[in-house]
Amino acid sequence: MQITFVLRYLRACLLRACGLLWLAKRRIAKRGVIVLTLHRVLENDEFSSSSSLPATLVHRKTFQRLIAWACDRFEILDLKEGAPSWDATASRPRIAITFDDGWLDNYEFAEPIATRAHCPITIFVCPGIAGIRFPFWPERVSRLLANTSDAAVHRIFPDLPNAGREQTIEAVIARMKEMTPEDRDSWIRQLEDAAPGRQTLEDREPLNSTMTWEQIREISHRGVAIGSHTLTHQILTSIPRDIASSELTTSRDAIEANLQQSCVMLAYPNGNHDAGIREAARAAGYRLAFANQRGCWTNKTDLFQIPRINIWEAKLTTPRGRFSQAMAEYYLFWQPATASI
Ligand SMILES: [Zn+2]
Repeated sequence: MQITFVLRYLRACLLRACGLLWLAKRRIAKRGVIVLTLHRVLENDEFSSSSSLPATLVHRKTFQRLIAWACDRFEILDLKEGAPSWDATASRPRIAITFDDGWLDNYEFAEPIATRAHCPITIFVCPGIAGIRFPFWPERVSRLLANTSDAAVHRIFPDLPNAGREQTIEAVIARMKEMTPEDRDSWIRQLEDAAPGRQTLEDREPLNSTMTWEQIREISHRGVAIGSHTLTHQILTSIPRDIASSELTTSRDAIEANLQQSCVMLAYPNGNHDAGIREAARAAGYRLAFANQRGCWTNKTDLFQIPRINIWEAKLTTPRGRFSQAMAEYYLFWQPATASI
């Protein structure tokens, strides 16, 4: 794992030294907009003890460096203003910064850093789970698995390959994402029965909560764009179509009622959507819907499947954990520029 990380860092540095990252940036500036997805921004102690998957975490200091670097070099779009103009080629690459899930640390760390830098951000929240502790099942499952013996985990999931704890957690979460909510709850109950002492461990993560409505209103007043991430973060393609439609309409209604402003942006939970879900999103009144597939938003992009780049700590730092322009440029520009767009 560490060797892969070092090799990727060296590759990014080499591409930068050859000028290829510069060419990728130029290509993106001509063709479209890069939309970033982040989830959580944490201080060191919470970062190391968090039960969230590593692919959702960024250190507070790294985020601060990312924002300073991005504001200095790129045009940061405010998605409140709608789709970007495609009339003229932008002089600088354009990016937009989004957060999924509405975590409390977005209020504690991310928003103050972005606001101080006058950097527009968008946060996609789930009104049905605003202001609660351990709001998402993957963190609960991760915490339960960390507190359960290998033997017990394999009794519950007998066909799981023998691997390290981190890979086991990722494999179980990936499998549970494919389940119906009822099946998933039943498996989680089995894990709870096999993992005593869960509550004590949960208490070690004070920021493992979603923002309250009061906090969402406060950052909205300070200029943060608020979009919907559905009502309760169900995977829309795994639930009956009428419930998916209700997740889309009720979340939009709740945001509009609580913030007294229109809500026209949506991020699909886990990025999952299909033609029916996109139509339901359109019917629910959304105008922009963001997915998770890698790529660049151009004037040819379907506004109900706008690509985004998921960003986390390992995509922004050197192997020693310092912010790296080469790594950031590699993931922000090289990968989307070389993907088919
Ligand atoms: Zn999410």
